[in-house]
Amino acid sequence: MKVIPRDQHCISRKNISDSALKVMARLRSEGYQAYLVGGAVRDLLLGGHPKDFDVATDATPEVVHGLFRNSRIIGRRFRIVHVRFGREIIEVTTFRGHHDNGDDRGSEHSGKHARQSEKGLLLRDNVFGTLEEDAVRRDLTVNALYYDAGSFEVLDHVDGLPDLEQRLIHIIGDPAQRYREDPVRMLRVLRFAAKLDFDIERGTAAAIPACAPLLREIPSARLFDEFLKLFLSGYATATLEQLLRHDLLQYLFPEADAILQRDPAALALVRAAMRNTDQRIAEDKPVTPAFLFAALLWPVTRDLAQRLEAAGEPPVPALHSAAQQVIADAVQHVAIPRRFSQPMREIWEFQLRLVRKKGKKAMELAGHRRFRAAYDFLLLREQAGEDTGGLGAWWTEFQQQNPDIKPLPGGEDVERPAPRRRRPRRRRNNANS
Ligand code: ATP
Ligand code: MG
Repeated sequence: MKVIPRDQHCISRKNISDSALKVMARLRSEGYQAYLVGGAVRDLLLGGHPKDFDVATDATPEVVHGLFRNSRIIGRRFRIVHVRFGREIIEVTTFRGHHDNGDDRGSEHSGKHARQSEKGLLLRDNVFGTLEEDAVRRDLTVNALYYDAGSFEVLDHVDGLPDLEQRLIHIIGDPAQRYREDPVRMLRVLRFAAKLDFDIERGTAAAIPACAPLLREIPSARLFDEFLKLFLSGYATATLEQLLRHDLLQYLFPEADAILQRDPAALALVRAAMRNTDQRIAEDKPVTPAFLFAALLWPVTRDLAQRLEAAGEPPVPALHSAAQQVIADAVQHVAIPRRFSQPMREIWEFQLRLVRKKGKKAMELAGHRRFRAAYDFLLLREQAGEDTGGLGAWWTEFQQQNPDIKPLPGGEDVERPAPRRRRPRRRRNNANS
């Protein structure tokens, strides 16, 4: 293991959250090891501002929980401790050890707590271990650096620092085996490559095509969580390109992917939605997954609605049943909660209403709580080359001429970007969405 002394790296304690420093100091004073780890160390070394601080320790979850009154143990697949300081949560994980793999699969019988399925998927991962073991079971080399806030040293057991310097996303260990253990790591590879603007190390990329079908085994709820991280962290545009390049979008949205592959206008629409979302996040404006889902699934929905219309259904019921069908198919793969699928449908159905704008109708529509999102969506369709007969320009002008029309309250469906994995999903109480 390489130890990098304080004068040879750029991490300064003043960029680390006081709460994280407190947690680590307390653990050290009780005789345990405690390090800052993961994304925080990576982002500090890159000169950025980590969005949260994770701590790794050799104290067990029970011990950690016993040391901090403001803490609780969470998680099933991974048991970890959340220590709360006001709104900030410091996530403390106990070093995880080796799980058995391959022929040694009967780990339950060996008295350990890691379990794998027949295909090598990790089902449970609660074997405690040393720092070295903890490092190698992490996903990427740049995510496996440890910072000791007592000695100010950075510990590198997986050659993460050279990768960080060369700006490389490099999976730890044998790529295919690591993807078999957890196929979501393939999505994480692409996400971090997009977010950090790093290249993907050759072997890390080369193993993806053969392992990609394993993503079909991932529960739709976890893919929804991952969806939020992929597309609502401010790097959706770059992430989409990575997903297309490595052909993984099909595991999230198979029907949409098929259309995007052959229809440049559909792809333009989705790209425009991603850019719009990234820009809003950069400007600190609220964003909602409903809007992205609306864009991703619109080409499929529109095609189906057109077919139904060709078969004689009027436009409104055609769109309605197309939406129903498309959502039913989509949630097989990515579990879209109703609080997002419902506004998504309303955005779609509003597209038809925006056409009827005679007399008082326009006023009424512009005051609707879904107007804003629907109007933005209309502009996206036009940006992507769809011919709406100048409808967007008409509505833009209408709003300029009627500046005091305010949408009714309750129209915003705000979702903070990227809730963290392994944090229990709280029900958000925006009941109106
Ligand atoms: P972000 O800035 O997106 O939070 P992060 O690196 O902190 O980046 P998390 O998803 O918060 O990412 O995960 C925290 C750490 O846990 C990672 O840095 C990595 O070391 C480890 N990790 C997370 N998911 C996996 C996984 N599927 N397999 C192995 N290690 C993982
Ligand atoms: Mg993190």
